[in-house]
Amino acid sequence: MTIKHDWTKEEILEIYNKPFMELLYEAATVHRQQHDPNTVQVSTLLSIKTGGCPEDCGYCPQAARYHTDLEGNDLMSVNQVKAQALRAKATGSSRVCMGAAWRNVKDGSEFDNVLEMVRTINKLDMEVCCTLGMLTENQAQRLAEAGLYAYNHNLDTSEDYYKEVISTRGFEDRLQTINNVRKTNVTVCSGGIIGMGESEADRAGMLVALATLNPQPESVPINALVPVEGTPMAEEKPVPIWDMIRMVATTRIVMPETQVRLSAGRTQMSREGQAMCFFAGANSIFAGDKLLTTPNPDVNEDMEMFKMLGLNPQKAFEKKSQPVSVAADKSQFNSQDEKPKWSRPGHKIERNLQAQEKAKSKPGF
Ligand code: SF4
Repeated sequence: MTIKHDWTKEEILEIYNKPFMELLYEAATVHRQQHDPNTVQVSTLLSIKTGGCPEDCGYCPQAARYHTDLEGNDLMSVNQVKAQALRAKATGSSRVCMGAAWRNVKDGSEFDNVLEMVRTINKLDMEVCCTLGMLTENQAQRLAEAGLYAYNHNLDTSEDYYKEVISTRGFEDRLQTINNVRKTNVTVCSGGIIGMGESEADRAGMLVALATLNPQPESVPINALVPVEGTPMAEEKPVPIWDMIRMVATTRIVMPETQVRLSAGRTQMSREGQAMCFFAGANSIFAGDKLLTTPNPDVNEDMEMFKMLGLNPQKAFEKKSQPVSVAADKSQFNSQDEKPKWSRPGHKIERNLQAQEKAKSKPGF
C-alpha cells in the first residue's frame, strides 16, 4: 500500500468531521485492509521511576511542581521489573512499556540499569518499549543494542497548542528525539492526548505532525485526558466518547499501517464505546489497574470484554495478521465489484510480501 505523507490540516479536519457513519465505515475498511480486526495487542505500562519530574506538562501528576497525592518512587530494580513483566505476560500482555519520569536520559548507573531491564524483558520474548524522556542519538543506539523494540515519545498535541501544555521544552525537542530513535532499528511510538482544551484543528495538527513523518510511527497512542487534582488541567471536562472514536478513526485512515493504541481514559468509556474504537481501527490497549499513575480497567474486565467481542490478544512481534476471510466478505458483498480491495484475488499475496519485506528490515524480529 502506498502511504501518503503529505497530509494537510484541512484534509485531516475534513476526515475528522465526516458524517459519523461514513467516517466509521472508511476507517474500518482501511483497518481490515491492513490488520486483523479481531486481534488487539495487550500492552502493560510499568512506571519504573515515578514522580519528581522537573518538567511542567500541564496534565501530569508526576511533575514535581504540582501538588498531587502521588507517591514518588526511585528507579525499580531489574528483578522487580522482571517479576512484573512475567506477571504481565501471564495475563496476556505481549509488550511491556517502561516509563521513567525524567526530562531526559542521563548516562550513568540508572541508565545502565534500564539497559539491563531491556535485555531482561527481551529474553522473555516480549516486545520491550521505553519512555524515558529526551534521548541523544548515542543513547538511542545503546537502547537498540540492548534489544529495545520501541521508544515512546508523545508529541502530546499540535505544534500551535504545545506551549499551552508545556513550557519547559519545545515541540522541536520532541521531534529531535523521535529523529534520534529513527536512526536506529528501534520502532517509534508517538501519539497524544485529547481533552486538554485544544481545538479540533489542534487535533488535526497533531495528526499532521505524525502522519507526515516518513516513515510514519509504527505505533500511535491516543489518550483521553484523565484530569488529576492538583494539576493545571484538573478542571477540564471529560472527553466525549464520540470525539475519541473520531480521533481513533481519523488516525487509522491517515496512518493505515500503524498500531493505534487506545490508551488513557478507558475507565470513563463504556464497553460499547471501546468496541466502537476497535471497529474504527484501535488495535492495542494497555492492561493493568494503573496507567503509569492514572486508573485503568482491571485486566480481568478487559479479558471479559475481549471474550464478549471475540477479540484475540496479539502475540509478541506479530506485525501483520491475516486479512479478513473471504467467507466473511461474501456475507457482506454480493458481487466482485462490490467487494472491498482486501478480498480481491492477489491482495493477500501482495500484503504478505510487504509484511515479509518489512520484517526483513527490522533486524532481530
Ligand atoms: S509527562 Fe513525562 S516529562 Fe512531562 S511531567 Fe510527566 S513525567 Fe515529566
